[in-house]
Amino acid sequence: MIDYKEIIAGLTREHIIEIFDKLDIPFVEKTTHFVLPTICHNKNADEASQKLYVYKDTWLFVCYTECGTMSIFNFLKKFYQVHEIDYDWYTDIYQVIVGDKEARQVEGMQFPRYKSLKERFNKKEKVVLPEFSSSVLDSFVHIYPSEWLKDNISPQAMDKYNIRYSISQNKIVIPHLDESGRLVGIRARALNPIEIEQFGKYAPIKIEKTWYSHPLSLNLYGLFYNKENIRKNGICYVFEAEKSVLQMESFKMDNCAVAVCGSNFNKFALKILLTTARPKEIVLCFDKEELPRESKYFDKLYAICEKYKNYCNFSFIYDRRGLLSLKDSPSDKGEEVFQILLNERVKVK
Ligand SMILES: [Zn+2]
Repeated sequence: MIDYKEIIAGLTREHIIEIFDKLDIPFVEKTTHFVLPTICHNKNADEASQKLYVYKDTWLFVCYTECGTMSIFNFLKKFYQVHEIDYDWYTDIYQVIVGDKEARQVEGMQFPRYKSLKERFNKKEKVVLPEFSSSVLDSFVHIYPSEWLKDNISPQAMDKYNIRYSISQNKIVIPHLDESGRLVGIRARALNPIEIEQFGKYAPIKIEKTWYSHPLSLNLYGLFYNKENIRKNGICYVFEAEKSVLQMESFKMDNCAVAVCGSNFNKFALKILLTTARPKEIVLCFDKEELPRESKYFDKLYAICEKYKNYCNFSFIYDRRGLLSLKDSPSDKGEEVFQILLNERVKVK
């Protein structure tokens, strides 16, 4: 188990400043805290108000306009997402904070960083992720966690996607395969409340000294299992989380779902999808983020579709009728609700 309290307690003023510098974040230092622009929800630091405080006694990040209180782990995650930077949890979050010198990747493994990723894509090279030995999964047991059964994920779905459980870490273990079925990463859904608060619900898993981490933006969860369905039906539903792909497994309709495991859809995902399954339409099925009469989230989804509409037909699900709760995925309330949302999806032409 990782000791989160110890990590946070081990942070120093110098190290925090180093992180700000590394990420190009302007700051003003006060006696008890740092004052930052609210880059947790603003892309442009110049336009953001100075309302993000970082307290020196707890190292908590508090955004007074929108985001509330965040651990440094969750802050970095938000920062990368808002700035549309493709990040790898281990190298870009964990190592930035902990500088973990002891843990290492599998021998000979080098993860491409986001800057080089962009270059690679521009050169139109195919990025093949390194493969892990699937025997590592043998150390986890077959248990159907009640949290997921309650969330309408069937035992059959968990069997199909080889979902396991880690007794020692109290986590749901989710193997990530690439479109050819190679094991490229293992993510875990934490069940310990303290761990969720500090680290977030999802993170890669560490087994002995190895992090089974991969750049999420270079892979689509579920594509290996559902590529034939996507091809046959000509449609693909792109969700944020693995959980939704598993929920869709219990629907009567063919499972044409994949997950980006984040809240962005990028060129890499598009390319993998088009070359592997050739859908005629891609439907973004992202979590509900917006209250009535707001439009920021609508605009964000619209902009993603607009950006890629020359490559494929694009649409997105947007709950206007209040069928979903805030933070719900469109699959959370079952097939009937999903069908209604799907029929009313916003098509971007
Ligand atoms: Zn914020």
